[in-house]
Amino acid sequence: MSNATVAVVGAGVVGVSIARGLAMAGADVTVFDRTGIGTGTSGRTFAWVNSHHKNPRPYHDLNVAGMAAHRELAVPDGGARWFFPTGNHEWADDDAGRERLAASTRELSERGYAVTRLTADQARRRLPDLLVPPGIDEIVCYPEEGYVLPGLLLARLWGEARDHGARLRCPDEVAGIDTAGSTATVRTAAGETWTGDRVVLAGGRWTGELTGLAGRPMAVRDPNEPGDVVCGFLGYTEPVPTRLNAVLTTPRINVRPDGGGRLVLQTLDLDHRADPLYAVERSGPVGQEMLHRLHRVLAGTDGAALSHIAVGQRAMPADGRTAAGFLDDRTYAVCTHSGITLSVLLGRIVAEEVLRDRRSPLLSGFEPDRLLDTTTAAFPDLPRAQYAGQQ
Ligand SMILES: Cc1cc2nc3c(=O)[nH]c(=O)nc-3n(C[C@H](O)[C@H](O)[C@H](O)COP(=O)(O)OP(=O)(O)OC[C@H]3O[C@@H](n4cnc5c(N)ncnc54)[C@H](O)[C@@H]3O)c2cc1C
Repeated sequence: MSNATVAVVGAGVVGVSIARGLAMAGADVTVFDRTGIGTGTSGRTFAWVNSHHKNPRPYHDLNVAGMAAHRELAVPDGGARWFFPTGNHEWADDDAGRERLAASTRELSERGYAVTRLTADQARRRLPDLLVPPGIDEIVCYPEEGYVLPGLLLARLWGEARDHGARLRCPDEVAGIDTAGSTATVRTAAGETWTGDRVVLAGGRWTGELTGLAGRPMAVRDPNEPGDVVCGFLGYTEPVPTRLNAVLTTPRINVRPDGGGRLVLQTLDLDHRADPLYAVERSGPVGQEMLHRLHRVLAGTDGAALSHIAVGQRAMPADGRTAAGFLDDRTYAVCTHSGITLSVLLGRIVAEEVLRDRRSPLLSGFEPDRLLDTTTAAFPDLPRAQYAGQQ
């Protein structure tokens, strides 16, 4: 069915990557987005490529395959570099943290995941501006992890989708989906219709609403619930004269480069204060605390300033696990809170599933059925400590 006509709803990293996979396989692809490419969660993300704390084992394996897919795609193509597999550096500074870190590195090593241990001096040889707090004599490095610059990843994926004929309809809100007959029909809020063979719903945190339009509501956590695991602060700095080319996940702050000398900051223990309805003052208490913690881990950050603080809203299936699969013969849905890590891989394997009805073994167990025709109330709460760190 490689000459199928397919609609993809959602132009975040997941939808755009799937559109690319479909278009490159020969499908006629139309992407609908109500606001623009990368304007959802993909534009407000920490964008760390990893398989850290990803349990159970099949979820770990899926993310490891996701990391490999980034590496394979990241060959120079004439566009800007978007993937930086320059490693992640982590340490713990209290007994509970050390125990957690030891357990997690043990599990990762047993799974064959690359983990190396560095002294503070060795870590500083790699990252010359790293300020390792006194008393920390071991830094754990995950050399195969890295980060993505989301805007440039989107440019790469959408550029190749466009090269293969994919079209974008934007701003265009999808307001109705009908797949009961011999064709799939998408109706937009403007009253227009698209007709084709299959529809892929890749609406991120709105995927539950989209599957509802197709008659199969999916339990996705409310992205607007302040204090919930779905919401998290992201601090974006102005250019800072510090040398950092890797991810840091430290007890009180996570840091990654964001291009042009800018950094993205995360302070997970403050995220319970994040409320997407309220703008956060960059000079307020959260911003001050972010900069204070930054000064403690990187030299050269004394005069650092935030350009803004965003509240990111995760796309989180009710049980915290990725969902990807057919809802019916013509409708495929995908929703994941590891969307940056998985984007390139999903683009490839979802396109195969949609066009060739061939289930990828990697997605076995991630069928959306467990989330359909029910609500989040039917699922246990997701502990913030476990799921916000699992990104
Ligand atoms: C604070 C934070 C940190 C994160 N850190 C990481 C990390 O380190 N590593 C990682 O892998 N992941 C991370 N994530 C998660 C990752 O960013 C997301 O999983 C990913 O961006 C989701 O992409 P998506 O394409 O599914 O959704 P989105 O980017 O939200 O795209 C969905 C699109 O669908 C469109 N849409 C929705 N409904 C309709 C409609 N009815 N009609 C038309 N268009 C519609 C929207 O406009 C939107 O553009 C993080 C997320 C947050 C919030």
